[in-house]
Amino acid sequence: MEGKIYYDEYLELNIMCITVLGSIHVDLYIKIERLPEIGETIIGSGFTILPGGKGANQAVGCSRLGVKTYMIGRIGKEFSDFLLRNFRDNGVITDFIIVDEQYPTGVAFIILHEKTKENMIIIDPGAGRKINYIDIDRADDAIDLSKIVLLQLEIPLEANLYMCKKAKSKGKTVILNPAPAKSLPEDMLHYIDIITPNRVEAYQLTGIPVKDLSTAKEAGERLIQKGINTVIITLGSYGSVLVSTDKALHYPAFNVEIVDTTGAGDAFNAGLAAALSKGIDLEEAVVWANAAAALKLTKLGAQTGLPYLDELLDFLKKYPSYSSKLI
Ligand code: ADP
Repeated sequence: MEGKIYYDEYLELNIMCITVLGSIHVDLYIKIERLPEIGETIIGSGFTILPGGKGANQAVGCSRLGVKTYMIGRIGKEFSDFLLRNFRDNGVITDFIIVDEQYPTGVAFIILHEKTKENMIIIDPGAGRKINYIDIDRADDAIDLSKIVLLQLEIPLEANLYMCKKAKSKGKTVILNPAPAKSLPEDMLHYIDIITPNRVEAYQLTGIPVKDLSTAKEAGERLIQKGINTVIITLGSYGSVLVSTDKALHYPAFNVEIVDTTGAGDAFNAGLAAALSKGIDLEEAVVWANAAAALKLTKLGAQTGLPYLDELLDFLKKYPSYSSKLI
């Protein structure tokens, strides 16, 4: 890509910001060698506390890719200093994060099976359940300055729907990462410009089991019939498929050494939103998304492993002939 444009130039134009509305959690990790039986206590190891939540991960991802990013969300008093400091260290603007006096910070208990590398996750969204239209109205200035509004499904649907309508009425590009899988009200789809389900989420939204490229294309076309112009289905090690009103493209996954698969989807969405906010066209933005996800896989931690702009640009330089194919 010739003549890349960086953060400062866009700041002056004030057209490149992203607003993320979503979850902010603390991730409490513990490793186990086997699952306990009901009523049994076992000894685990490696307890770690890390910042998480899909909203927060995606906001940090956008900011690391050089985009001025506003986060809207709710946390409780517990861990609030830790979470706010982490956002600030990552350059995310925290003015529209509310510290709830009554409800606790959302948490995710992440149990990692040491041998199989599989994980089990239990989330209590805590204060995130209380995100409402007043929180969103408070952030009008951020939304006005943003080109893109990025959403996921770890907060109440009503809040997301309110944000979709508001962002559309202000002429913003609305990206919904419909994770974790949930059915959506039909009218919500009309306010979404780009939707980015993984296989499971695409099945939940369409009833089409996504097993390969052709079923991914079919699911994408189904969502287009329902009123969304652009669908990007992520397919793990098979990369992703972009379905728009006039064509479908397959983007193969980058071949990287995998260290940790958590947060690949968050990195993907951050890469996509960051590229679009920089004025990169959609087809190239999906290359950024796949590259950001691939880079994340090479590092530990859903959020700590998110790539920075220079890493992403260096990575893309290594694959000059990478391209998508019509399917
Ligand atoms: P999620 O993490 O939301 O379930 P996916 O598993 O579909 O999402 O992964 C998101 C993106 O991460 C993919 O579209 C791809 O770009 C990248 N990715 C995932 N798994 C691999 C892999 N094994 N090798 C290379 N890239 C991968």
